[in-house]
Amino acid sequence: MSDRRRAITPERAHPRLAPGLPLPDHPREEASAGILQERLLAWYDRERRALPWRPPPGTAADPYRTWASEIMLQQTTAAAAAPYFNRFIERWPRVEDLAAAELDEVLHAWQGLGYYARARNMHACAQAVAAAGGRFPDREEALRALPGIGAYTAAAIAAIAFGRRAAPVDGNIVRVLARLDAVETPLPKARGEIAVRARELAPSVRPGDFAQAMMDLGATVCTPRRPRCALCPWREPCAARAAGNAEAYPRRAEKKDRPVRYGVAFWIERGDGAVLLRKRPLRGLLGGLMEFPSTEWRARPWGGSEAADCAPAGIAAGGWRAIAGTIGHTFTHFHLQMSVLAARAERSVGTSAGTWVALDRLGEHALPSLMTKIADHVRRAGDGDAHPAPRPKRPPRRQES
Ligand code: SF4
Repeated sequence: MSDRRRAITPERAHPRLAPGLPLPDHPREEASAGILQERLLAWYDRERRALPWRPPPGTAADPYRTWASEIMLQQTTAAAAAPYFNRFIERWPRVEDLAAAELDEVLHAWQGLGYYARARNMHACAQAVAAAGGRFPDREEALRALPGIGAYTAAAIAAIAFGRRAAPVDGNIVRVLARLDAVETPLPKARGEIAVRARELAPSVRPGDFAQAMMDLGATVCTPRRPRCALCPWREPCAARAAGNAEAYPRRAEKKDRPVRYGVAFWIERGDGAVLLRKRPLRGLLGGLMEFPSTEWRARPWGGSEAADCAPAGIAAGGWRAIAGTIGHTFTHFHLQMSVLAARAERSVGTSAGTWVALDRLGEHALPSLMTKIADHVRRAGDGDAHPAPRPKRPPRRQES
């Protein structure tokens, strides 16, 4: 750790400093954790965002609402998460209500937020909490033992809902702290260093407000591009601002290219225009969601007849038609290129192969966005009577570092 970093540990906090006192001229040398806490909390008291999961100032946060909001906020912005949060809370006002819901209902309500594993874990977590009496544990370690609650979410719930001195570190906080200290280590390696710094800074009084203040600062002032340093309560001690290159932080390691996988989806229509869907296995990518049947997704492109051998049985005479073009979809760890084979089903094909769904009712099923892309692709190709699946609007991604 550098001398500068040692200079601003909590041991050097200045508890007698009155609110509003100016920071010293050479604040990067002198600003203590106490000053930084005080400045940020004063800013938060003036500028905090009114968000549906936040209680009025001075009121304790509800653990269920805190948990639900933090799970949603892992993948989108507060503005985009708010309508999802409101719908969830209206439909399932208590953790016991969510626990009693069918998983399909939860996945459907989650549609458009992506990363469906989080919705499945949310449901499992609600069931675990409900089974334990409906109360979330108040310590990080116990929270982390629940499904879908990792280090970040456990720290956020412990700090915000239970007032524990914990230090959640999300993308916004990473960015703010990387700039405050002008951390030269690139991400993701720098995360450990930044987490240590966050723990040093976490106050024992109002830790939840302090964490939310850093989140708000990152979301509204210390933004990825064009940070508004003139409005920032940490402008004086901020090393990146002093160096005049705030946007260069956090430093990043060069990204590796994602591998490409290939798959072929089967668009199978019945005489009445219904199409065949099937449910994906509960575990794994897009687990428990509905899909058009497809080949496996592999590293080599598929040949047409080779792919057709993997299709459900019962295709009518005339066989498969290849739909021109491909559909691209990017997952966290790979990029997928899908092509589509279309066919009519024989009358004898029953429900053992999946579920037959009328085209205008596709939107009633938990279809991931890849599948709505496939439906749109078929429609654009003018195949049969295909209509677009009602497309859930995808909210903007959270501004991650
Ligand atoms: S001074 Fe600028 S770069 Fe530094 S923390 Fe504040 S907004 Fe971010």
